[in-house]
Amino acid sequence: MAEGKKYVQAASLYVCGTPIGNLDDMSFRAIQVLKEVDLIAAEDTRRTIKLLNHFEIKNRLESYHEHNEDEKAEKLLELLQEGQAIALVSDAGMPGISDPGYKLVKKAVEYGIEVIPVPGPTAAISALVVSGLDTGRFVFEGFLNRKGKARREQLDKLKSEERTIILYESPYRVKETLKDLERVMGDRRIALVRELTKVHEEKYYGNISTVLSRLEGKEIKGEVVIVLEGNKDGEETGPPPWEGLELGEHVRLLMAEGLGKKEAIKRVAEIRGIPRREVYKEAINIDIGK
Ligand code: SAM
Repeated sequence: MAEGKKYVQAASLYVCGTPIGNLDDMSFRAIQVLKEVDLIAAEDTRRTIKLLNHFEIKNRLESYHEHNEDEKAEKLLELLQEGQAIALVSDAGMPGISDPGYKLVKKAVEYGIEVIPVPGPTAAISALVVSGLDTGRFVFEGFLNRKGKARREQLDKLKSEERTIILYESPYRVKETLKDLERVMGDRRIALVRELTKVHEEKYYGNISTVLSRLEGKEIKGEVVIVLEGNKDGEETGPPPWEGLELGEHVRLLMAEGLGKKEAIKRVAEIRGIPRREVYKEAINIDIGK
């Protein structure tokens, strides 16, 4: 331990978790470590100041974010080598999990500096444990590539993944992502969770198509995680369940699962990536009053 300090030792990097919403999730140890270190490296100093004020922590702050990561890492490593204790925090959750931190930790390990975790919440694990999906084996994929070939290739690779898959997503893209997931992977079970640990925490459970229907006409706000069931076919790339069905049959299938005719037509068009009018032409004679 550094002299007069109970919670930190000299020349060590503390990777410190902070709440993902509810401030009461801040651990007692995290507060003590943030008080005792010589310096706190923060992703966004303005956000971290609010956290520090809330817990009455007065300490030196330095910004460490993705745009200055390389240059700042060098400086922080020098300080660590000189014997300083440094805490690394991100805006929320665990640093390094879809947040800056990885490069600093990697270099610190290479330099033989002691790296110490101060575990706190992380959205990925919090979402997984309430998903109702297999927690025995899972993969964290972070944010999907946003578009184009990289996204298609990433989704294609994920299709055969047998373990539960955890994805971060922006609320603005979540519906598009669910449609892409359904098209590529089939209508799997998911848990879509938003605003975990906050006042408006909410969860949607079910197959992708059911969750999409429930989100129809709703604007999704806040922070979301998608937890997706792994591939249960045991095949590299199993055919989608609707393969071989005529368009009209596909619409009937979704209607039998509870969707209205209009909604079923819309969903079939989305799932197959074809214009809605094409499906409509084939489904026009389907009786709604079954
Ligand atoms: N380092 C963070 C962690 O440990 O979870 C993740 C930071 S990443 C930049 C932000 C993403 O995490 C959000 O877009 C969302 O997918 C997820 N996230 C963070 N807080 C969340 C919350 N309270 N509820 C749901 N998802 C959350």
